[in-house]
Amino acid sequence: MTFNSNFNRGGGGRVTTSSGGGTGGGLGGMPIAIGGGGIGTLLLVALLYFLGGGLGGGQTTQPGPQANSAGSYNLDHCESPNAANEYDDCRVEATMYSTDAVWQEVLPAQAGIEYQQPGMHLFRDRVATACGNASSATGPFYCPADSTAYLDVSFFEQLGQLGGANGPLTQEYVVAHEIGHHVQQLEGTLGLSNYNDPGEDSAAVAIELQADCYAGIWAKHASEGPDAMLEPITREQLSQAVQTARAIGDDNIQKRSGQEVNPDAWTHGSSQQREEAFMAGYETGRMGSCDFLNRGVYSS
Ligand SMILES: [Zn+2]
Repeated sequence: MTFNSNFNRGGGGRVTTSSGGGTGGGLGGMPIAIGGGGIGTLLLVALLYFLGGGLGGGQTTQPGPQANSAGSYNLDHCESPNAANEYDDCRVEATMYSTDAVWQEVLPAQAGIEYQQPGMHLFRDRVATACGNASSATGPFYCPADSTAYLDVSFFEQLGQLGGANGPLTQEYVVAHEIGHHVQQLEGTLGLSNYNDPGEDSAAVAIELQADCYAGIWAKHASEGPDAMLEPITREQLSQAVQTARAIGDDNIQKRSGQEVNPDAWTHGSSQQREEAFMAGYETGRMGSCDFLNRGVYSS
């Protein structure tokens, strides 16, 4: 249980859904994904392994109802009480509302920028976006061209294969990371990221670490104060989120892909950097603690 009675869905409608849209092609534009280079391949392998029945249980919540044969898919089941704590897709939706509430306060107060809501789209299998077509193997990503975060909740089931730990805060961290990229777009810095110019000192890595840090900022503000939509974060939830941040570190992904660890190829930062970035935001709640681009523009 993480969402408490302060969370009110208000009839929903904030998050859009689709099942199986988009064909051919690949992502062009400039999509910003949760993990680097090999994550797509790894997820694909994990998915095949998963479908092969090689995985044990360990799932505490459910992905949500499957799409019917016509391929339609919606979030009507999120209307039931406590759905945000029962279904992964409802938790994603709830997190979206919560990130809106937090950044509406934090972004003007700390960066002098007015917050504008991003889109959030849950898809199954494939999706067409303004950045091109994507499949579940891409992992969650943010598309600046339509200011929308895209996610297939099956990603969460595969996290274990990367060494991550699936738990409520883990899922929320993944959503909040993508919304972090939206905040960067509002700041006008997201375009500095260029996955074709990688390396541990690259802007790409700084942008990804900052998104992890922004996810930490969200976690702090969402779980503290009278309006907090989250119950106080437990030690176990925190360690699951941190374990996942480490799992999707570039060095871990390189190792699991059978490659040598090569910092020159990093786009998202090492396991240790990703953990530290998330924790910096979580401990302080301040954008100034996430200033990996050294802009010095945040109020202290
Ligand atoms: Zn990212």
